[in-house]
Amino acid sequence: MTQFSGKTALVTGSTSGIGLGIAGALAARGANVLLNGFGDVDAALVLVRDAAADTGARVVHHGADMSKPADIEAMMRYADDVFDGVDILVNNAGIQHVAPVEEFLPERWDAVLAINLSSAFHTTRLALPRMRGKGWGRIVNVASVHGLVASAYKAAYVAAKHGLVGLTKVVALETARTNITCNAVCPGWVLTPLVQAQVEARALSGGLALDDARDALLAEKQPSGQFVTPEQLAELVCFLSSDAAAQVRGVAWTMDGAWTAQ
Ligand code: NAD
Repeated sequence: MTQFSGKTALVTGSTSGIGLGIAGALAARGANVLLNGFGDVDAALVLVRDAAADTGARVVHHGADMSKPADIEAMMRYADDVFDGVDILVNNAGIQHVAPVEEFLPERWDAVLAINLSSAFHTTRLALPRMRGKGWGRIVNVASVHGLVASAYKAAYVAAKHGLVGLTKVVALETARTNITCNAVCPGWVLTPLVQAQVEARALSGGLALDDARDALLAEKQPSGQFVTPEQLAELVCFLSSDAAAQVRGVAWTMDGAWTAQ
C-alpha cells in the first residue's frame, strides 16, 4: 500500500512541464493516473508508468481538448468507465498569450480563458457529484502568481488565473462540510516549455544569449534568482491531496521564490 493506492488522479495538461511532474509524483505514491494533453504522449506515458512501476497503479491517457466542454464530458465518462471516477482532480492545463490589451486578438482571449479557467469549471462540475458519492475528494487548481498579482501584456492569463483562484474559494465553501477540499497553487517561474518560449522571445527581442535572457526573466520578478521545479510543485500538490491537508481549504498557496512577497 502506498499513500494514494486505490485513488485515481486526473491531471489535465500532463504531457509536459508541471503537469507531467505532478502526474509522476502522484503515480509514484500509488494513484492511478489519467494523463491528458497533446505533444509527445508516448514519452509522457513511459515516464509516468515508470514512476508507478512498483505500485501497481495504472496510467492511461485521454486526448480531450480542454477548450471543448464536450471533450471534457467524454473524458470524465472515460474516467468512470476505466477507474470508477476521479478522486484527485488537478486542473493544470494552461496556455499563455502575450500582447497589449488593444492588440489582444479576441480569439486568443477566448482560448486562454477557455483552457485556463472554463476547463476547471467543467471538470469540477462533473467530478464533484462523484466525489460526494464516495465521500472523499481533492481538487487542486494550478493557478499562478498571476492569480494574485498582474504583469503587463498578459491580460487574458491574469484574468483567467484570478478567476481560477476565485473559483477555488467558491468550491472550497460549497464543500466545506464534506471530506472534499479545493485549493490552488500559485507558482512563480518554472522552466517549462511554456516559459522557455518566453525566454526565447526575450532573447530574440533583446539580442541576448538564452542564458542571459533566462537570468533577466528571473531578476525582474523572482528574488530567489532560481526557478521553481515541477518536482517541488508536485510535492505541494501531493500534500494538498493528502489526508494531512484535510483542513487546508480555499487557499492560494504560492511557491514563487518570494515573487509576491515584494
Ligand atoms: P507546458 O506548456 O509545459 O504544459 C502545458 C500542458 O497543457 C501540456 O501538456 C499541453 O499539451 C497541455 N495543453 C495545452 N492546451 C491544451 C488543451 N487545449 N487541451 C488539453 N491540454 C492542453 O506548461 P507548464 O508551464 O507546465 O504549465 C502548466 C500550468 O502551470 C499552466 O496552467 C500554467 O499556466 C501554470 N503555470 C506555469 C508557470 C511556469 O512558470 N511554467 C508558472 C505559473 C503557472
